[in-house]
Amino acid sequence: MNNLLEEFHYRAGQLLPELISIRHKLHQYPELSFQEKETSSFIGSVLASWGIPFQSGFAGYGLTGVLNGGATGSGLVALRADMDALPIHEETGLDFSSRNSGVMHACGHDVHMTCLLGAIRLLDIMKLKWGGRVQFIFQPGEEKLPGGASLMLAEGIFHSELPQVIIGQHVQPGMKVGEVGLCPGQAMASCDELYISITGRGGHAAMPHLANNPITAGSKLVHRIQELLPAINEEKIPSLISIGKFNTVGGATNVIPEIVHLEGTFRCMDEGLREKVHKGLEELCNELAAEFDAKVHLNLVKGYPCLHNNLKASEVFFELAKAYPGIETVAELPPRMTSEDFAFYSQIVPAVFYRLGTGFSSNVHTAQFIVNEDAVAIGSGLMAALACRFLLNV
Ligand SMILES: [Zn+2]
Ligand SMILES: [Zn+2]
Repeated sequence: MNNLLEEFHYRAGQLLPELISIRHKLHQYPELSFQEKETSSFIGSVLASWGIPFQSGFAGYGLTGVLNGGATGSGLVALRADMDALPIHEETGLDFSSRNSGVMHACGHDVHMTCLLGAIRLLDIMKLKWGGRVQFIFQPGEEKLPGGASLMLAEGIFHSELPQVIIGQHVQPGMKVGEVGLCPGQAMASCDELYISITGRGGHAAMPHLANNPITAGSKLVHRIQELLPAINEEKIPSLISIGKFNTVGGATNVIPEIVHLEGTFRCMDEGLREKVHKGLEELCNELAAEFDAKVHLNLVKGYPCLHNNLKASEVFFELAKAYPGIETVAELPPRMTSEDFAFYSQIVPAVFYRLGTGFSSNVHTAQFIVNEDAVAIGSGLMAALACRFLLNV
């Protein structure tokens, strides 16, 4: 087993300069969600230069293809990278900083794409040493609803065959290069957006009996929403509802407004509880409307589901990562309340989504986020090695 891992590690090191120059190109020309046109054609040109066949045009600018191992073996494993950048003006001062003003690869998706290209290159160079098939997926629009993952699935990337496992990785500032981590089981939360409007009757603030103040109704609702979760969530599943906006349309010291808008987020680690809370929120709004004789409109925008790391596949990940040269620390991570559209794959295929240490820096989604690029060798080699492990070649 160790020979193949040694070779992945060694060759990933050899490839590193080429991969870093690919990463710089991707980093210099970031594109927003579902606008990844140049990114897609650049990836296509790299794949073509290596003689790797692929199909493009999924969910806009997504690409996918299948590598065939040359040794005996069967099975299909999928590897995924996301492609989009964020509306942030880069302030890293790097000489390969973003040239697309106001857009930055601040979530490391340039690193994810580079590592997937690296894994593809390694698997192709070493194809006589493994059997089975590896499907690679470059997916647009991770940062924006409805999520490129859900669209690529709807467009049939797995129609001919479901992979036995899908693997994704995410950069992790705060973890050193040589450290990887994974949270087995429920790993990331679902994320739904709440938009509530309450229409009462405005009026003179000195004559409240002639008005129907929507602020009073809205305040009650915020309290009741906070009481809803503990009442339903008997098993104390990690979950939260945060109201982040409470605005009136008009209103003053002496004016009762007619309309109040509330906005918030609902995060949850269990799909069953998620459904119950959706129902509960609707009931609360209906009850409030009747009680206050107001119009209450709830717009619940369903976002990404919970991300579940398959338990058996997680064990395989831990075992292989510990054996992989170049990895010093393999951490078991706690669940996090952020969300990620890789969750859509995890709902239908056993999934592994792990964190790749990229050194110490400002957090992702900030203008100062940077990456120690030595992590690219580990991210490429580990991904290729995991594919081979799940295909029972190591
Ligand atoms: Zn992000
Ligand atoms: Zn991300």
